[in-house]
Amino acid sequence: MKRFLLALLVIAIPFTQSFSAEKAPKNEKVKNVILIIGDGMGVGSVASWMIENNYAPTCFDRAQFAGFSKTYSANSKVTDSAASGTAMACGVKTNNGMLGMNPDTVAVKSIAEFAREKGLPVGIVVSSYILDATPGAFYAHVTKRGDRKGIIDDLIKFKPDVIVGGGKKYFIQPDYVPENMVEKAKSAGFTYVETPDEFLATDKTPILGLFADDSYPMAIERDIDYLKDATMHTLDILDNNKKGFFAMIEGSHIDHANHANNAEQLIFEMEEFDRMVNAVFDYADTHKGTLVVITADHETGGVNVLSAAKDSKSTTGIDVKYSTTSHSGAPVPVFSYGASAWRFGQMMENTEIFARIKELLIDKK
Ligand SMILES: [Zn+2]
Repeated sequence: MKRFLLALLVIAIPFTQSFSAEKAPKNEKVKNVILIIGDGMGVGSVASWMIENNYAPTCFDRAQFAGFSKTYSANSKVTDSAASGTAMACGVKTNNGMLGMNPDTVAVKSIAEFAREKGLPVGIVVSSYILDATPGAFYAHVTKRGDRKGIIDDLIKFKPDVIVGGGKKYFIQPDYVPENMVEKAKSAGFTYVETPDEFLATDKTPILGLFADDSYPMAIERDIDYLKDATMHTLDILDNNKKGFFAMIEGSHIDHANHANNAEQLIFEMEEFDRMVNAVFDYADTHKGTLVVITADHETGGVNVLSAAKDSKSTTGIDVKYSTTSHSGAPVPVFSYGASAWRFGQMMENTEIFARIKELLIDKK
């Protein structure tokens, strides 16, 4: 009987897997890449959201391929966001805390910089602050992730076509910077916006959006569609360029919810993330040559989904349990959708995210 069941499983799995994968445009030339990073989003976070959603289809079910990424850094089995951001942005394993450079402190060109050289516009949307490690890895080259001044200088120099999120105080308060860096950005040509509504009303690039003093608030405290709206407006702006574009979108607060071991915050963040990713998949469906890659920089919280305890108030039959308030060393999922998405359906080093995007978008292999 057991063997019979096993045989059934073996038959059933390829059918269900090939169903969405077969619809993927196999070797279609890649014109646009949208890299979406759920900061701290391991398998446990994904599972928590799927269960909360009662296994109704999520963006993760809709993805055409799934793989895993090994996140360890050059000096630690457990990475931080700076080293893992650098791995995905620049293709090198570096030491925790370092942005956009190798362990010998030599600056390494990011995929955003390669895209710029190729005449492709670059957009960055986050829900934390725009100088944070994950976005910073795409445009900054500093030895310390806390070097706000150095990161802002690199941001103004690189001048992404769109960069929005929080972090206003780091640009203007003398505790952090010797001069008003918003004014400096404006004189360097940036259109400066202070609210998501102001952002949605402009397409005059380059655009710098600082919507909060520090991180933009968590999803549980506000309108849940910020990430989706800001992302879709960014794609609208970027695709004015007929040659294509590169965008990096970060669901930043998944990490913060997990550091706080707060499953309720996590679910709100995952719901917002899911809505944004689904909208991006819709975009890919109607814009030929669009590749979407969804992954995480590392796992946070050691999140697990366990049968609800007897006294649990859980309505799903599951308690979301944490094993740490820090990051863990677990591999993270990589989901992909659209043009040449199959290239991401394996177990890989996090540096391969960079390498494969570069091959497809820049080298056109
Ligand atoms: Zn973290």
